[in-house]
Amino acid sequence: MKPIIELENVTKMYGDLTALRQVSLQFHEGEVSSLLGPNGSGKTTLLRILAGLENPTSGEMRFQNARVDRGNINRVRLKTTMVFQKTALFNTTVYKNIAYGLKIRGYPQSETDERVKEALRIVHLDGYDQRPAKKLSGGEQQRVALARALVLDTEVLLLDEPTANIDPKNVSILEDVLSQVNKETETTIVVATHNVFQAETLTSRAALLLNGEIVKVGAPQEIFTWPSKLLESYARLENTFSGYSQVTGEGTSLVDVGDGLHIEVPFEKTGHITVFVRPEDILVSSNPLISSARNSFEGWIVQYMDLGPIVKLKIKARKDFTVQITKRSFIEMGLNVNSRVSLAFKASSVKTL
Ligand code: ADP
Ligand code: MG
Repeated sequence: MKPIIELENVTKMYGDLTALRQVSLQFHEGEVSSLLGPNGSGKTTLLRILAGLENPTSGEMRFQNARVDRGNINRVRLKTTMVFQKTALFNTTVYKNIAYGLKIRGYPQSETDERVKEALRIVHLDGYDQRPAKKLSGGEQQRVALARALVLDTEVLLLDEPTANIDPKNVSILEDVLSQVNKETETTIVVATHNVFQAETLTSRAALLLNGEIVKVGAPQEIFTWPSKLLESYARLENTFSGYSQVTGEGTSLVDVGDGLHIEVPFEKTGHITVFVRPEDILVSSNPLISSARNSFEGWIVQYMDLGPIVKLKIKARKDFTVQITKRSFIEMGLNVNSRVSLAFKASSVKTL
C-alpha cells in the first residue's frame, strides 16, 4: 500500500508540556485507521498536525512523498479536511452549510447543487437541504459536517471523536456512512477515538497513543489480544471483570467474578480470565426480565449521566455495571437514581481480554 502521510519522530511541545513524543507513523492511501487513546493522550494534537493546522516542534511530516514545510503546507490543507469533535455549523440551512466551501472556491451554481445533493445522499440526509442546520440532532449535525467535508473531494478525512455523545442510532449511521465513503471515494480516513469497539468496527489499522507516545500499531482485531494491562489502562474499559472460569458442559463457561456473581461466556475455558461487556449490549428493565439472555442480574441505579439523547447509568448488581440506554426509555420506565432494575445480556455479548 502507498503511504499518503508519513510522520517521522514528530514531537509537539506546548511550552513545557510534551503533547506528542517522537511519533513515527504512516497512513496509507485509501485506508481507514484509528488513533486510539484516553483523554489527553494527544489524539487531537496529532490530527491537527495531519491537517496542517499545527506545526510539529521537531520531526518531519511527508504528504504524498513531499516534505511538508511552510512553503507547501497549504497543499496539505487543501487536500485534507478535519471534522472537529464539536461541530460548529453556521446558523443557516443545511444546503448553505455544505455549499459554503464550494462557494469560496468559486464553483458554479449547477455543480454546487449537484455536489451538495450527492453529499447529502452519502450521509443519508436526502431532502434535508432547506432545514435549519442548528435544529438538527447532534448526530445529524455531525453528518452535515461530514457532508461539508465530502463536497470538497477531500483526499484525507480526519475525524475527531466523531461519535462522542451522540445517540446509538446515529452512531451506527455514521459508522455505515464512513465505511461507504471509504469504499465509494477511496478517501483516506483517520478517526480519533477512545472507543476500542469503534476502532474495531470501523478501521483496518489502529495506533494506540498513551501520554503522547505511540505504544502499539496493529489490526483492531488484535486489539483484544493486546496485554490486558495496556488495554485496561487506556480504555478504562467499563464492565471489565476477572475471575476463574469453568466449563458448564453446554459449550459455555461460567466465570466466578467474585461477590457471588457468575458470568456466562460463549466458549469453553478453564482458568483465570478477564471478560467484558459493552455498555450498549446490556438490557435494562424496571421489571424482572424473562428473556433468553444467559446473564440476568438484579440491582439498582447508583449514578446517572445525561449525554443528551442517551443516558449512561451505573448500576450496582453485586458488581458495578455501566449501561447505556436512550433517554426516552429511561423516562418511559420511570427510572431514577436508586430505582431497582434488572440487567440482562447474552453470553455471546461477553468478550475476553
Ligand atoms: P486528546 O485529544 O487525546 O484528548 P489532546 O491532543 O487534546 O489529547 O491533548 C494532549 C495534551 O496536550 C494534553 O495534555 C492537553 O492538555 C495538551 N494541549 C493540547 N492542546 C494544547 C494547547 N493548544 N495548548 C497547551 N496544551 C495543549
Ligand atoms: Mg481530543
